[in-house]
Amino acid sequence: MNVRVRFAPSPTGFLHIGGARTALFNWLYARHTGGTFILRIEDTDTARNTQEAVEVILQGLRWLGLDWDEGPVDGQATHLGRGDRGPYFQSQRADVYRKWVQYLLERNLAYEADGATKFRMTREPIVFEDLAIGAIRRELTDREALDPDFVIVRSDGQPVFHLVNVIDDLEMGITHVVRGEDHISNTAKHIALFRAFGVEPPRYAHIPLILNPDGTKMSKRDQGASLATYIEEGYLPEAVVNYLVLLGWSPKDNREILPIEDVIGRFDLPQIQRHNARFDLKKLQWLNVAYLHQLSGDRFTALASQALERAGVSLAPFPKDYIAAAVSLAREKIKTLTDLPPFVDFFFVDEVALDPEAMARELTPASRDHLAALRGALVALDPFTAAAIEAALKTTAAARSVKNAVLVHPARVACTGKTIGPSLYHLMEVLGRERVLRRFDRALAQIADS
Ligand code: GLU
Repeated sequence: MNVRVRFAPSPTGFLHIGGARTALFNWLYARHTGGTFILRIEDTDTARNTQEAVEVILQGLRWLGLDWDEGPVDGQATHLGRGDRGPYFQSQRADVYRKWVQYLLERNLAYEADGATKFRMTREPIVFEDLAIGAIRRELTDREALDPDFVIVRSDGQPVFHLVNVIDDLEMGITHVVRGEDHISNTAKHIALFRAFGVEPPRYAHIPLILNPDGTKMSKRDQGASLATYIEEGYLPEAVVNYLVLLGWSPKDNREILPIEDVIGRFDLPQIQRHNARFDLKKLQWLNVAYLHQLSGDRFTALASQALERAGVSLAPFPKDYIAAAVSLAREKIKTLTDLPPFVDFFFVDEVALDPEAMARELTPASRDHLAALRGALVALDPFTAAAIEAALKTTAAARSVKNAVLVHPARVACTGKTIGPSLYHLMEVLGRERVLRRFDRALAQIADS
C-alpha cells in the first residue's frame, strides 16, 4: 500500500509540542514507508485564523526538519516532488465540501434542520482496531441516543470540523490517521461519515497525551508546552526531535540517543506506547548537551553564529576560522545555544566591557606588576599557543614567587572583562597576540587611572 498521512493543525497561533510530536510521527511513518506526508491547515474557523498563526506552524515544522511532500499550486491540487509546495488550506476548498454535502443530501444521509445541515448518524456501535491502542468499541451515550444526528454545516453556511476533516482525508487518499488521543471521541463520527460516503475509513493510530511532570494534562499555558520556547531558548532541533520521538515511541532497546535515520528505519505505528508520556525537561536538556557534543564542527559553528547574531553580536568583521575557533571553546560548557553569546561575546568586540566588580577585584594596584611581567613574557612568545602561554604564565608566576592564580585572574579579566569564561590559555591563543597585548595595555591603563 502507498502510505499517505497528514498533519492537520488548526492555526491557533501556537504549536504545542503534542502537535509537533503528531507531525513528527506522521512524517516518520511516511519516510519509513516511502509514502507521502501532507500538511493540511484546518482553517475553516476564519475568525480565529491569521497568516501569522499559519507561519508559526510552518516555521515550527521547518525548524524541526519535517518537510511535506505535496500541496496545491494556485488552488489546484497537484502532486509535486519534494521542494517548495503546499500546504493545503481548508479555507480554499469550500467547493469540495459543498459537493460532498450535496452527495449526502441526495441520498437522504443528511437533512436540513433549522437552517443547518445534519448528518444521520448510525445507531449501531462503531468498532475499529486502533493501530496504537487496540480494539475500540464506541456506543452512543444515553444522551446521544436521544438524537445522535449531528450538524455538519452550520446555519451560517460554515462546514464543521468533522465534515471537512473526513472529506479531506477521503479526497487526499489518506491511508492512516495518526493523531492525538483527544480525538478518539470524534472517530466514531468520522468512521460513520466515511461509510456514508461509500468509502473505507483509513486506519487510525491515536497517540497518548503528553502530561506535565506532575501527571496533570498539559495545557497551552504550561511551561514548555510551546515549541517556540525551545526555538527561542536555543535548543537544537535534532535534540528536540529525538526527545519527541521518545515521548511516545520506543525502539525496544534502551537507547536514548537515536539518530533520525535510525528512527526512520525502524519507526512503525504498533510500537507507539499506550501509556501517556510525561514531559521531562531534564531529559531534553541532557539530550541537547549530548547533541551539542556530537554535532560536526561546521554545523556547530553555523548554529553558534546564528545564536550570536540573534544576540546582537556582529560577526561580519571576523574571519571564519577565528569565529569557529572562538565558539568551539564554548561547546563543552553550554547547555543550550542561548548560553553561548555571554560566554564568548568578548571575542567579537574591539574593547571588552570590563565588569566593574571583576575589575575592582582583579585589576588592582597589586596585580599591576604581575600583569606587566606577564605581558613581557608574551610579547615575543613563539608559538603563541595555549601550551606555550600556559608555560610562560607558570614561569612568570614562579619567578615572582606567587601562585598561578594570582596571574590567571587578572589576565582573564583583562582579556574578557569577566571572571568566568572559556579556558584562559585557549582563549588567549584564539584572541592572538595582538588582541591580547592590546587588552593587557588597556587593563594596565585602567589600573593606573584608578
Ligand atoms: N485540526 C484538528 C486538530 O488540530 C485535526 C485532527 C486530526 O488530525 O484529525 O486537532
